Amino acid sequence: MTEWECFWTAPSGLARVSLRRFVYSSAGRPCPGPAGYHNASVVIADGVPTVHHDDGLIAAIDPADYRDDPRWPTSCDACADVFRAEDAWQVNQDPIHLAADGRWSGVLRDAPPGAMWDAYWYPRKGPDGICLVVRTPRGDGRPAGLGDDWMPDLRASNCTRPDDDAHYCWVRHGDPRAIPCTLTVDKDGDTCAAGAGSIAKPTWHGFLRAGRLVNA
Ligand SMILES: [Zn+2]
Ligand SMILES: [Zn+2]
Repeated sequence: MTEWECFWTAPSGLARVSLRRFVYSSAGRPCPGPAGYHNASVVIADGVPTVHHDDGLIAAIDPADYRDDPRWPTSCDACADVFRAEDAWQVNQDPIHLAADGRWSGVLRDAPPGAMWDAYWYPRKGPDGICLVVRTPRGDGRPAGLGDDWMPDLRASNCTRPDDDAHYCWVRHGDPRAIPCTLTVDKDGDTCAAGAGSIAKPTWHGFLRAGRLVNA
């Protein structure tokens, strides 16, 4: 596929709680599975009310309450390696987002390429008052995840006007929330000399034009 249609998502007001164990790659116990490290996760609640947190919405629970929960995974989902006490313990409290057009719902780590949302906890806003996030595809065949997000309202790493907060390094046109097919991002406006309006991620390079992510 060389095109991905963009669509708006918003928080549902509910969150998913899951218990995750994983092994840091520095532990020297590589996993033959696709992630390369041992990892396992089990969903224990899907519909917990959300509360605001520094980085957005989270489930209204206290992670400490799950310390002795019998449902923690005991072995890797990919290879059955048994977790040790010193491996990581993580209580995920992810908000569930709903696509405005009904095509998808889920937690943002699982959002497909083209999903968009407002990172409202970022102080930097775009021209319409939101801080736009776009999940981009990957070029290496692995599923897209949280590391594949593009935030065109933030400053580009190679910005040539770093002391100027008035301009945008990417210029947005259209309405990503109400009419996603009108969204185009380019260099047509008050901008700097960084790039050509494209999206450069470690495994993918492309553009967002007329509501579609397209390969460069
Ligand atoms: Zn494993
Ligand atoms: Zn700039």
